[in-house]
Amino acid sequence: RARGIEMASKDCVKVAVRVRPFNKRERDAGSRCVISMTSNNITIQDPRNQQNSRTFTFDYAYWSHSGFSRNKDGLFVPEEAGGRYADQANVFHGLGQGILDNALHGYNATLLAYGQTGSGKSYSMVGNGPNKGLIPTLCERLFQFIRNSQDSRQCQVFFSMLEIYNELVIDLLSKASRSAGGLRVREDQQRGFYVEGLRRVPCDSAVQVEQLMEQGTRTRTTAATHMNANSSRSHMLIIVQLKQIFSKECITKQSNINLVDLAGSERQRSSGSEADRLKEGTAINLSLTTLGNVISALADMALGKKVVHIPYRDSVLTKLLQSALGGNSRTVMIATLSPADICYEESLSTLRYAERAK
Ligand code: ADP
Repeated sequence: RARGIEMASKDCVKVAVRVRPFNKRERDAGSRCVISMTSNNITIQDPRNQQNSRTFTFDYAYWSHSGFSRNKDGLFVPEEAGGRYADQANVFHGLGQGILDNALHGYNATLLAYGQTGSGKSYSMVGNGPNKGLIPTLCERLFQFIRNSQDSRQCQVFFSMLEIYNELVIDLLSKASRSAGGLRVREDQQRGFYVEGLRRVPCDSAVQVEQLMEQGTRTRTTAATHMNANSSRSHMLIIVQLKQIFSKECITKQSNINLVDLAGSERQRSSGSEADRLKEGTAINLSLTTLGNVISALADMALGKKVVHIPYRDSVLTKLLQSALGGNSRTVMIATLSPADICYEESLSTLRYAERAK
């Protein structure tokens, strides 16, 4: 591990920002756009104070078309906001392909979506209908690669899907783990941290992966309803494990691709009892704060700064991601934003969080 850490390269953490189109509620409220972009610079303007704006620079910046243009009274149309329109395919090309290539070379990778609820995390990761997100497209390309590969390698793909809620791990592909108070996270010299008894489903097609994702998503929603919670308060983690056996060379390469749809980053509002709410809020913040600290430490290290301690052990999420963050692993964070003035505070806080990862 220590050696891996020393090798953290400049490319180790990449940050992308994606702004979704206005939604109906924002349009009906006559919301203004407070975000603008020029190349990879993103400017956010305080709606109560025109003089107060901040500019951030990221590795990628994606704008989404809203399909409407009302412009007389200060409402931006996308072109005027300066953003380059990016659809799901553009986003995959920018972020997903590199992760897949890295995994095929035998390295681990992590892709995280961070942002307030409703800002486009699951649209980016999972997508809907024909607008396939990063996860299904990545799996499609992976199986395509396996089918077309001409060399001697034999590939096996395993799929797992879990949820972390209040620091508890729930297997989304197995009914058994839910009642027992979650699965245990264990540590092993070889494997690092892992979830004991987590279901790993061997897969040989993208269609099969999509069916498993649907199954997992249904379980997630039902579990949330049972717990009187909202699934936006849990982290969803998909692990695609790729094992490549090169029989001629007698080499086996194994890589994990971790795909994480994080809990909504907004401050938590009340549901259930005060005690539950506090526990839940603390747990979600613990994972998000720890993740921020870990990624920021890795980013510092990549810049050659001295880092004494990386706090992987401080949350379940960062424990499980440890072997796929840092070292030769590739980490990409996609921070999702609403363009609207009414989301200004949350969007600014998302940009600040994402900035720490650079
Ligand atoms: P989150 O997962 O952050 O809670 P969602 O991904 O569910 O948010 O997005 C909320 C709504 O906005 C959904 O209806 C989704 O289809 C839509 N949406 C989000 N991002 C985009 C985008 N880039 N382009 C088009 N629609 C989007």
